[in-house]
Amino acid sequence: MFADHRYHTDETWRDEKGNPFSPVTGYHVGGNTKFYGAAILRRREQDFVPRQHREGSTPPWPIGYDDLAPYYDQAEAWYFAHGQAGADPTEPPREPYPYPALTHESAVDEVNKALRDLHLHPFPLPLALNRLDGTPTQSACVRCPTCDGFPCLLHAKGDAEVCGIAPALAYDNVRLLTGHRVRRLIASEDGRRITRVETDQGSFAADVVVLAAGAVNSAALLLASANAQSPHGLANSSDQVGRNYMAHLNSACMAIKPGQGNHTVFQKTLAVNDYYNDSGDPDYPYPLGHIQNLGKITPAILRAQHPRLPSPATAWAAIHSMDWWLTTEDLPDPNNRVTIDSDGTIRLHWHPKNRESHQRLQQVWRKILHKIGFRLVFFQTMDISATAHQVGTCRFGEDPRENVLDAACKAHDLDNLYVVDASFMPSISAVNPSLTIMANAIRVAGHITERFSLRTTR
Ligand SMILES: Cc1cc2nc3c(=O)[nH]c(=O)nc-3n(C[C@H](O)[C@H](O)[C@H](O)COP(=O)(O)OP(=O)(O)OC[C@H]3O[C@@H](n4cnc5c(N)ncnc54)[C@H](O)[C@@H]3O)c2cc1C
Repeated sequence: MFADHRYHTDETWRDEKGNPFSPVTGYHVGGNTKFYGAAILRRREQDFVPRQHREGSTPPWPIGYDDLAPYYDQAEAWYFAHGQAGADPTEPPREPYPYPALTHESAVDEVNKALRDLHLHPFPLPLALNRLDGTPTQSACVRCPTCDGFPCLLHAKGDAEVCGIAPALAYDNVRLLTGHRVRRLIASEDGRRITRVETDQGSFAADVVVLAAGAVNSAALLLASANAQSPHGLANSSDQVGRNYMAHLNSACMAIKPGQGNHTVFQKTLAVNDYYNDSGDPDYPYPLGHIQNLGKITPAILRAQHPRLPSPATAWAAIHSMDWWLTTEDLPDPNNRVTIDSDGTIRLHWHPKNRESHQRLQQVWRKILHKIGFRLVFFQTMDISATAHQVGTCRFGEDPRENVLDAACKAHDLDNLYVVDASFMPSISAVNPSLTIMANAIRVAGHITERFSLRTTR
């Protein structure tokens, strides 16, 4: 996974200057949830309304937390969500999780206690895994180290194939066609409807078309589907398709206690949100972000990522480290966008916003880790190729001049096109995006179902 990028696409995209890069994304049944780290957090209530950051404010959403809450409940039930309600002080109001939080292994629990002694509020990271620690022999998940970044060979991860597509295939009227790449959407003469979906294996007609190719590819497809009537791309009278790309400011962090090995196998159980809403510094009254454990970095992973470092050094570091993932909210900027070059290659323009807040999050976390005995702390900040958390390229909102989609995620310009992936988000928040994508998909499915019943009763 980490050396040969197995399962990742071999496509090359370009950055704004035309430099090629390999995006961290894969095209498989279940999408990127096949490799995701299964951290499934709800957005906070404050993530649905404008939030002031050092570099600007986020836009409001056309729906609030209360609108999405029942769909979060549903998504958590489908995706085996584990967690402990009430443990995260920033968590919005909610019922208990469907499944109890996964237990910490001893090294993680030691850190949990040390953070509490510093008056922080660490909490169990909500996870989508088919696992019950109390009855391990009856659990599909074996808490192995190949979770974060790997597809689960036991089908024990709550991913979109296991929890969404496989159950849907039990219905007679559901058919899955693999190996078809959609090239274009074809619109009717009046430009109000999608009439055909053109793939490299033939074309298909449908009453309703749902586009869910991921934030970058959905935007790219709409742009590639330009025609005489819509020369700037379909659903794009607002000129917003592809714009406001966001991907988080993310860093991986290795914290090392030189005299103490870390023998944790399944490390990804702890998170900290004490700096989610506020830095705690009265001179910097802005949010910094979210911190969660990474899956355990192994000598092989570290060697793959830093092949020039001597092997004994990477092995020593990986054996002694506890590993973390730091996330700061990226802000929407119309110039951060997806375009398509004349040869069809995707071009991604991205200058993440909020860099100072991310640096401050690193500094704060470094200080805390030093205090609890981790003398060596290293950060690696992700670059443009880290497209894992891509969102925002077809944002939803009531005003068709400013937004691609309406509040039901139907294209303002078209009567039968819905976009139901990460593209719809007007802001990214600082938590992982998947649970919100899942919950929103269930919400939109309700709108579509209602529309179908209206049609059939006519
Ligand atoms: C290594 C990694 C770790 C992650 N960890 C987490 C985590 O712990 N928690 C979390 O919340 N999120 C995590 N994410 C992010 C999460 O996986 C994504 O946010 C989520 O999968 C996005 O869902 P989506 O529906 O927008 O797109 P995707 O999941 O990317 O699905 C898009 C689908 O469209 C298909 N497709 C694309 N283009 C075409 C085309 N032209 N024709 C036909 N089909 C097409 C693709 O094959 C894919 O199946 C992680 C991602 C990665 C890569």
